[in-house]
Amino acid sequence: MNQAQQKLLDLEQRIEVRVQDIRASRDWWPCRRGCDQCCRQLAQPPELSLQEWARIDEAVAALSATVRAEVVQKIEQLLVQIAKNIVGSHVVCPYLDENEGACRIYDARPIACRTYGFFVARNGSDYCQIIEKEVFSRTDAATDIVWGNAESIHNEIERVCGKLIPFDAHYQRSNSL
Ligand code: SF4
Repeated sequence: MNQAQQKLLDLEQRIEVRVQDIRASRDWWPCRRGCDQCCRQLAQPPELSLQEWARIDEAVAALSATVRAEVVQKIEQLLVQIAKNIVGSHVVCPYLDENEGACRIYDARPIACRTYGFFVARNGSDYCQIIEKEVFSRTDAATDIVWGNAESIHNEIERVCGKLIPFDAHYQRSNSL
């Protein structure tokens, strides 16, 4: 494992500790298999570090032939939308199993996905309204959640791994499909 991969893993572990800590005391926390709200309304197609893309490529390659064909079809559809400049503001992630509400590459999912529920952009676009509603309807949980900061995580990933690579640039430069 190279240094960037190790640092990425360290960042993931730090996020995981915090996520588990908050979830452990809130049995109502909605992020689990079956809740795919985040995955159905990405603000844009995934933009990831080289290391994250490498892990995703491996995970997609390891899917069964049928599932892989379905994922590849969705990737290609999204690439066409990007090329035609018709990507909407709510992108459905091509790695999502829409019937199950589950990630098909869960173990290889990007860092951003590991922070779902906590990942807050300062412009207010990246956060979960289900959680927001829950938090503000519960007096016990309202005050002691420290939300993630999308910008800071983004900067940390770039600091560790270099500039993030957009979805279309990744699939244009790699032969992973
Ligand atoms: S990679 Fe997985 S967890 Fe992340 S948005 Fe896509 S389906 Fe959801």
